[in-house]
Amino acid sequence: MKGSTMDKYIMALDQGTTSSRCIIYDKKGDIVSVAQQEFEQIYPEQGWVEHDANEIWSSQMAVAFEAILKAGLTYKNIEAIGITNQRETTVVWDKTTGEPIYNAIVWQCRRTADYCDELKCRGLESAIKEKTGLIIDPYFSGTKLRWILENVPSARERAENGELLFGTIETWLIWKMTGGTVHITDYSNASRTMMFNIHTLEWDDEILKELNIPKCMLPKPCPCSEIYGETKEDLFGGPIRIAGAAGDQQAALFGQTCFKEGEAKSTYGTGNFLLLNTGEKPIASNNGLLTTIAWGLGDAKAGSSEGDEDSSGEGSSKNHSRVTYALEGSVFVCGAVIQWIRDELKMLETSAESEDIARSVEDTNGVYIVPAFVGLGAPYWDARARGAIYGLTRGAGRAHIVRAALESIAYQCHDLIKAMEADMGHALSSLYVDGGASANDFLMQFQSDILNLKVIRPKSVETTSLGAAYFAGLATGYYKDLSDVDDNWQKDREFDPNMQEKTREDLLAGWRDAIDRTLSA
Ligand code: ADP
Repeated sequence: MKGSTMDKYIMALDQGTTSSRCIIYDKKGDIVSVAQQEFEQIYPEQGWVEHDANEIWSSQMAVAFEAILKAGLTYKNIEAIGITNQRETTVVWDKTTGEPIYNAIVWQCRRTADYCDELKCRGLESAIKEKTGLIIDPYFSGTKLRWILENVPSARERAENGELLFGTIETWLIWKMTGGTVHITDYSNASRTMMFNIHTLEWDDEILKELNIPKCMLPKPCPCSEIYGETKEDLFGGPIRIAGAAGDQQAALFGQTCFKEGEAKSTYGTGNFLLLNTGEKPIASNNGLLTTIAWGLGDAKAGSSEGDEDSSGEGSSKNHSRVTYALEGSVFVCGAVIQWIRDELKMLETSAESEDIARSVEDTNGVYIVPAFVGLGAPYWDARARGAIYGLTRGAGRAHIVRAALESIAYQCHDLIKAMEADMGHALSSLYVDGGASANDFLMQFQSDILNLKVIRPKSVETTSLGAAYFAGLATGYYKDLSDVDDNWQKDREFDPNMQEKTREDLLAGWRDAIDRTLSA
């Protein structure tokens, strides 16, 4: 049957915050077919964000059917399904009817901010950080789930009777696709719930007690690469194995093939998301970063780091050796500063044009932009800071401002990477990049210069869905091991640092000065 893998493909379901996508990959990681559908964003109150979980399900299935059809395939051609998803978004549904009892509460939703403050006042911050790797914040699923149990009539009673189930989006999709027979989550998604102990790989009883969450409604935590079950027969005309799941940022790290400790990826989208593989050890951050599970690989594939099987080991300690951890940091405003220059200041027609305009001047003429439109995140954590432009003189023009905006993206990423290096105790060897703004060669060169680090851009910047496909393909044996996956990776371009030390130091001193002036306290 060896030759049969030739006409088999992996189907990646990429369930994002604004759209559901399906991408079908061949074994080389090339795209065979894509379909995408946007769905409704629901804002019931200021600061609240919800999705209709049934619409997430129907849009995700619609794009899956469309992608299969477009490529002229049937279920028989699909080796396996891998899922990647918006993280933290919380769904609770009735175990018997499959009906959600409330809209999905989206990661962006701030409705549990007061309750999070209460948890902090009760002094729980350090215990929660130690167990989950997270700071207490409404972002994570735990307090959202609690809100549903407290506010939907009879929800708590029904949950305690075992009538309700909880899941993040991958859990919900897997449960639906298997006709309600498989209720699991993967370690990467579980590690964003603020209820999961990232050391023991189990739900944490003390946190559950604190949040008053009945354990019986929680899914079983599993590796990111494992055959969880099969789709119900009537969904695609015949069964397809569901064999991979991971949160979007973790899947992107995997899709970038950052398999080794010390490898990091930076995604330059609206915001900037950075993940650093810290290997088998979770590293607690002293610089405001999150500690999270990057992935856990199932039995067969774990050992690509040769023979780490411990036959005497048991239970969680055995699993533990198969889990890879990461440090995570994000910058709120990345490509969005270019959008602002384009749409509000009207200095650009397109985002891409920023590259030529930045190159038309030698430097920013002393101009710095700090795009703290919604405060500053890691490593500054100043919610009250607001954006500013410094160093304006009569000689400052449009090109200087555009260039300063691009440079601000690189400076913010620099600050996060320095925080990661400080937590890790040594320097990175390179940085892998993706996301919309990574197409900007000026920005990537400046990033490399200011970090004094090699910046590497792959040919495929669809790293999130590719990561999900790899997890699924590894579980079924479509890919033999990590090196088999690694063979697919192709470089588009590498940027090597090419800036005098003195210039770098002067530029960074100017940036630090601009940050100091922007901080609110
Ligand atoms: P998201 O997935 O967050 O919507 P994308 O990865 O699609 O974002 O990237 C879009 C962002 O990148 C936008 O904010 C846009 O302004 C910025 N962007 C896209 N192309 C370029 C470019 N060539 N130079 C600078 N910024 C760009």
